[in-house]
Amino acid sequence: MNVTDHPAYNPTPSVPRLLTELTQEEFWTRYATVRGDEGTFHPDYIAARRRTALLLRAVIADLVALADPTDTHHASQAAAAANALRREDGVGLVPATEALSWLRDQYQQYTEGDDLHPPNCPGGCQGAGWVLAPVIWQTDGHPLHAEPVTCLRGEPDDPHAADCTGCHGTGKRYDADYNEYTVCDTYTPDPAYEDTAPISWPDDPWASAPAPAGGYSDEPPLLSRPVDAARRPG
Ligand SMILES: [Zn+2]
Ligand SMILES: [Zn+2]
Repeated sequence: MNVTDHPAYNPTPSVPRLLTELTQEEFWTRYATVRGDEGTFHPDYIAARRRTALLLRAVIADLVALADPTDTHHASQAAAAANALRREDGVGLVPATEALSWLRDQYQQYTEGDDLHPPNCPGGCQGAGWVLAPVIWQTDGHPLHAEPVTCLRGEPDDPHAADCTGCHGTGKRYDADYNEYTVCDTYTPDPAYEDTAPISWPDDPWASAPAPAGGYSDEPPLLSRPVDAARRPG
């Protein structure tokens, strides 16, 4: 079987999101070990965290390999990572192509399961992997409608910058038909977007500091000053 024909990763997962998931699963696994009280955690809990970490690690490697199907180096590393998961599962190691096909099936099953996150997930999903959150707002910002959305494990979602064609950096799209805002769920950069101001957080102390007399130092500027007035034209 040609692994590129395998109907997995649809939709293609976000690599940054996978890394967030991976680091949390690793944390929960290692935390108990480092504290020296691994025995106070249910063995199934620790095993599930460790297995999920190995699964996500292999999926990230596979996605990297898929970006260039001619790159056998990354493909073989992804296959080895998939076989590390097979070893954890106590099933035999298999050749690379088969390992990657199996990995994609495993990931599919993982995403369709009802225990996507640990039961003590910091995002409050209790393991389900989704939470109720507002997706439609009135123009005054009042939430109008909530729906099940992907649990972010208690970490803020990645921001959209001002060049996002959907939301221009606000995270919300205006729907003129209903005079309301809906969530902008996909950052879609406009390649033609031009802005003289650097994209930065308003409270970023590095954002627009004037060059000090002696040149730049490694210290962030801490003096209070009208950052926005200095940065924005007009
Ligand atoms: Zn969660
Ligand atoms: Zn957006």
